[in-house]
Amino acid sequence: MSQEQLKIPQATAKRLPLYYRFLKNLSVSGKQRVSSAELAEAVKVDSATIRRDFSYFGALGKKGYGYNVNYLLSFFAKTLSQDETTPVALIGVGNLGTAFLHYNFTKNNNTMIQLAFDVDPNKIGTEIADVPIYHINDIKKELATREIDVAILTVPVGAAQPIADDLAEAGIKGILNFTPARLTVPPHIRVHHIDLAVELQSLVYFMKQYPVEQQ
Ligand code: ATP
Repeated sequence: MSQEQLKIPQATAKRLPLYYRFLKNLSVSGKQRVSSAELAEAVKVDSATIRRDFSYFGALGKKGYGYNVNYLLSFFAKTLSQDETTPVALIGVGNLGTAFLHYNFTKNNNTMIQLAFDVDPNKIGTEIADVPIYHINDIKKELATREIDVAILTVPVGAAQPIADDLAEAGIKGILNFTPARLTVPPHIRVHHIDLAVELQSLVYFMKQYPVEQQ
């Protein structure tokens, strides 16, 4: 990413994949321009925020015309590194891990799980959805021969920290942590934490406490 692109605020950057997915669908359906109001309705972000976000991308909507879909798409593709595939390692081929191996991430973005690790002898040496599964003890060896910066962690909570330590040693720079463990990693490693149970619980809580207005 260039220095210029790095100036995009983090809150804006987080919305990029959302915009990208919607615009890609528009482009596939042959639409060449889109208004901020249409975008706002589709991605559920208010149109003032969209206009501010898009001004960071150098995309200035014209009154009565809207935004040029292809210009935005090529900008997002570059910024989100969609022009290259990001290889990913998955650790823990349980129920959730297996689902990720079957899920084709490349449908919506260019990330691809290239290899997986586990401790279960029944899984090691096999492939799921063409992804080979290696023994966790070989993680540093296997990662050393590949240029992989990103790992998805779907192991039991107790296994998470030692594996994060190995991932750090192996040169991984980003971890998508699906375990409830709060990981301690060196400052150059970015960890995004997704606890599905907490998210679900929070949804139920918010539904009860802050019911959305009926249409
Ligand atoms: P399953 O039904 O296969 O047990 P699960 O998602 O309920 O799936 P978990 O106990 O969460 O099972 O474990 C997820 C996966 O992580 C399993 O495949 C397990 O073998 C693997 N695993 C457990 N410990 C480690 C470890 N130290 N390193 C790598 N993988 C591990």
